[in-house]
Amino acid sequence: MESKRVGVIGGGQLAWMMGEAAEKLGIELFVQTPSKNDPAVSRAVETILASVDDATATAKLATLCDVITFENEFINLPELQLLAQKGVCFRPSLDNLAPLLDKYDQRCYLQQIGLPVPRFTTLSPGKAILSPYGFPVVLKARRHGYDGQGTFILPDREALEHTWQSLQQPEMLLEEFVPFDRELAVIAARNTQGEILVYPVVETYQKNQVCRSVIAPAEVSPKIQSQVTAIAHNLLSKLQFVGVLGIELFLTNREEVLVNEIAPRTHNSGHYTLDACYTSQFEMQLRAVTDMALGSPNLRSPAAVMVNLLGYEYSHHNYQDKLAEIAKIPQAYIHWYGKKESRPGRKLGHVTVLLADEERQLGQKLSKKIESIWYES
Ligand code: ADP
Repeated sequence: MESKRVGVIGGGQLAWMMGEAAEKLGIELFVQTPSKNDPAVSRAVETILASVDDATATAKLATLCDVITFENEFINLPELQLLAQKGVCFRPSLDNLAPLLDKYDQRCYLQQIGLPVPRFTTLSPGKAILSPYGFPVVLKARRHGYDGQGTFILPDREALEHTWQSLQQPEMLLEEFVPFDRELAVIAARNTQGEILVYPVVETYQKNQVCRSVIAPAEVSPKIQSQVTAIAHNLLSKLQFVGVLGIELFLTNREEVLVNEIAPRTHNSGHYTLDACYTSQFEMQLRAVTDMALGSPNLRSPAAVMVNLLGYEYSHHNYQDKLAEIAKIPQAYIHWYGKKESRPGRKLGHVTVLLADEERQLGQKLSKKIESIWYES
């Protein structure tokens, strides 16, 4: 196809970062997003201002471009299926997305294709509120959860009952709490020719269920590295997936790997690729969905640390002083998403620091330093 006009459903920071890659590849980006203040609007040739689940807006988007891809999975699948039947090209395809959009369906699918997952069930109205896995236990919204919103780690039966009732008792995913040793993640890509490439496995650090930092590459044994790579290959080829996906995993102290979640798009754990890899995850997604050969996913620096700059107050600041302070760190690359307002937990930007071979051990120390500059009042 060699399509040079790509539509993106969602106009947040992921689409914004895709914008830079689009320019490099000579691709025109068209975006569907609810607000003119959303980050990707500034990098789009044209924006359809509409919610991401508005399929009428997507029909308009389709008239502007050759292929539609996603930065967000909060879509209305049945309505988009009607557009696909009329010939609109989605990559990943809607069949690729169907088993992944709902956290419970996704777990069932991963288990069905033989991937290791935590034990899980549903909590449904009318059924007894029981945890077959003891406590703590993890309760998750089936759809529309992100950045830990919709995920609840509950210490006892009382908390489980209370939380579920306060949410008006919807059907939810209930799963065992995994006392993981570490959290890992990996980005992988597949194009229309079936070429598959997997980025290095990284280690992620979460606080209150939100990603705070990522270290690339993770210090894991070759056995774990190849197990994770095999999971990515298995998933991409079973789905015949076209695009990029992010896989979040738990590594237990018995060296057991469990898949926590699949994001059928670029992912926060892959932001380091912008500065630390030959091909960023954003360029990789554009290459995959436009029939281009994939680029190299290899690191071009021995190691890197990525730190999220999360909002910690309600404000309209642009935080120039703090950013200038962070910019003084050698080999620091700041990406500021240009959001008009800050609120607690909102992803406002991130910084990646490239590390030389002898600095590999400095990742954690550097992320602490950046966080102390960023979060100090
Ligand atoms: P989101 O989709 O909001 O990112 P996740 O399911 O990825 O939600 O969970 C966010 C974080 O919560 C994980 O990175 C992990 O730290 C913690 N978490 C989620 N599920 C479990 C679990 N079953 N056991 C232990 N911790 C968990």
